[in-house]
Amino acid sequence: IEKIQNAEKEGKVVFSFEFFPPKTEEGVENLFDRMDRMVEHQPSFCDITWGAGGSTADLTLDISNKMQNMICVESMMHLTCTNMPVEKIDHALATIKANGIQNVLALRGDPPHGQDKFVQVEGGFACALDLVKHIRSKYGDYFGITVAGYPEAHPDMIKNEVGATEEDYQKDLAYLKLKVDAGADLIITQLFYDTDIYLKFVNDCRQIGIKCPIVPGIMPINNYKGFIRMAGFCKTKIPSEITAALEPIKDNEEAVRAYGIHLGTEMCKKILAHGIKTLHLYTLNMEKSALGILANLGLIDMTKIRRPLPWRPATNVLRTKENVRPI
Ligand code: FAD
Repeated sequence: IEKIQNAEKEGKVVFSFEFFPPKTEEGVENLFDRMDRMVEHQPSFCDITWGAGGSTADLTLDISNKMQNMICVESMMHLTCTNMPVEKIDHALATIKANGIQNVLALRGDPPHGQDKFVQVEGGFACALDLVKHIRSKYGDYFGITVAGYPEAHPDMIKNEVGATEEDYQKDLAYLKLKVDAGADLIITQLFYDTDIYLKFVNDCRQIGIKCPIVPGIMPINNYKGFIRMAGFCKTKIPSEITAALEPIKDNEEAVRAYGIHLGTEMCKKILAHGIKTLHLYTLNMEKSALGILANLGLIDMTKIRRPLPWRPATNVLRTKENVRPI
């Protein structure tokens, strides 16, 4: 978080990569290889999601630890309240603290599979605000806390395709401010495809006194069906020019990916032109699109990837100070 705050002060652009826990052991190994390559480009941090309903708790903890201590990148772990009594939350926080991780993305989480309403588990928290308060009261300033922000309002607030009402949007903003006032240092946004909506959201946050960095969450379009599913799930507006551009190429994966890189580049250019200095890339565990966008923006040099990587120990060996990659 300090890195991001400093970058904003110094006018330097920084970026980060988000990953999710793969389903198979082989997938996990591949993910570490991919992270290794991507970390060469010096993201300010990498984060790993907490599977829906707490389904990946042990794996997320394990990957966080390895990201921090073997891949040697500043790491942030997502943590949700779904199915998590406070003892389990504290176990997760104590584990990452013991592993030197200082960054948490504090979330309420979605309802468990098959339920449509979030229900507070016995002895657990009702919302991200409670989790932020808990982390601050129990761990003081040890953790840098990030929270989620919703430029189009949280999906629960969106009742039809027009989007949230102004009143609900303002309620959502006021609630976001409570999360920041309770101790969150950083906001990462939900994905969006209309850059003006993000820029308005930043402005609206500033109007109500939210001062922390509001990092845009950029999800490159990799694949047509996945894009439609994700945008539908998050109730994200898709501008008509994007629909029009995708319609004729939707069955051609290469063309869709190339368009996704082009679109992501244009969105980021516009965001950066408005003085925002941070970009968060939802990689979906793939590297081509995220790196393609950063290369187009001139933020990374694809020819400068160090390979092979002789310094990397086997994944079951923790790195020590002596074999840490010099960043
Ligand atoms: P909260 O901040 O608690 O709030 C959700 C909404 O409920 C608010 O926007 C507000 O409208 C309403 N609300 C809640 N409490 C109050 C209150 N006291 N007063 C008024 N309104 C209230 N999900 C996962 O399962 N794992 C992940 O790793 C994960 N990572 C994510 C990362 C990012 C950057 C984002 C944007 C989302 C992520 N999600 C993840 C999805 C997230 O869990 C869901 O969107 C979930 O439904 C809400 O979580 P939240 O932390 O935003 O909830």
